[in-house]
Amino acid sequence: MKQKFERSKEVSIQKYRSIIQIIFILLCIWIGVEFYLFVGYLESNGSSTFFDRPPGAEAFLPISSLMSIWYFIQTGIIHEAHPAGFFILIAVIAVSFIFGKSFCSWICPVGTLSEYIADFGERVQKKLFKKVYLIPRWLDYPLRSLKYLLFGFFAYSIFIAMTPVALNAFLSSPYNVMADVKMWYFFADISQTALIVIFALFVLSIPIRNFWCRYLCPYGALLGLTTLFSPNKIKRNTESCIDCNLCAKACPSRIKVDKVKTVLSDECSTCMSCIDACPVAKTLELKSVVTKERLPKRVVAFGILLIYVAITGLGVVTDNWHNKIDRSEYLIHYKNIGSMGHPRTISELEKLNKQPILFEKNPNINESKSQ
Ligand code: SF4
Ligand code: SF4
Repeated sequence: MKQKFERSKEVSIQKYRSIIQIIFILLCIWIGVEFYLFVGYLESNGSSTFFDRPPGAEAFLPISSLMSIWYFIQTGIIHEAHPAGFFILIAVIAVSFIFGKSFCSWICPVGTLSEYIADFGERVQKKLFKKVYLIPRWLDYPLRSLKYLLFGFFAYSIFIAMTPVALNAFLSSPYNVMADVKMWYFFADISQTALIVIFALFVLSIPIRNFWCRYLCPYGALLGLTTLFSPNKIKRNTESCIDCNLCAKACPSRIKVDKVKTVLSDECSTCMSCIDACPVAKTLELKSVVTKERLPKRVVAFGILLIYVAITGLGVVTDNWHNKIDRSEYLIHYKNIGSMGHPRTISELEKLNKQPILFEKNPNINESKSQ
């Protein structure tokens, strides 16, 4: 090991990352409260105070949003059912392209919760066993491929099996229009099976860091593929590196940072824990592979926020944030929500699409109570 080295004086970025993670968790809670009030209005059949549906809820409809992006690529039309989801998914992909899979470790609330659970699990393991047990690599690799199989299934169903007509039929269907409300009831009125599955994922996430994100999340698979094409990568200066191994030890994704010159992994989420852990100045840095310039940590933190806000803001300023579905249509669809199944065939989609989108006004709606 080389002994003399110039010590890094850079401050850690982890505090800023935690702040951004908490901001997005709070944002999700806020969206959840607004959505709860909106569903309350639907449940009252329009007789209670109207609360607008928060468009941010569409962040939780990634499959519908992916269809919307693919529909836009083929037709140039932003579908009106969930336009906010369209912009949110573009923002997520853009952030992950420019700064690696940073959405997972900076923004995604599930990623944040997984991180908290894993930190807790590691503390417990250290206390009980004086060490942290890791899943063996021979099992880790095949498990990691599961999320790509899931994503492959969705990608085939959307990019290959569906024509623009079928996409439009699905996106315009009452099932898709009400997908966020259905998802709400999935959690609010959760079945025993779903509860057992969520509990199992929670328990597995304690000893196995990021169990859901690393092995099962199809969103993570999409962003993992995106990150491979990112023009910014973590680079190790092999001349100044003292082989202390601290970077690899700090990596939550178990990447052997100390053994490579460039981190080229679909699991790297640009959390920058490795850079923060490196004691040697100018040895481990996020750099542009094009200009070879180093990206300061604060620029990355600010850049992630800026790109996300700019793209979602574009949806707002171009009037493509709120959908154009009025409350009377929501109330009519809500009456049938229990019988709405996922449309499976093109003919089913086309049949659904022939149903009128706008209905005569519901007499129970009290317009004067609107906010
Ligand atoms: S390689 Fe570095 S930035 Fe990537 S996940 Fe590991 S610690 Fe985070
Ligand atoms: S933390 Fe990693 S990159 Fe930095 S000196 Fe140690 S082994 Fe080298």
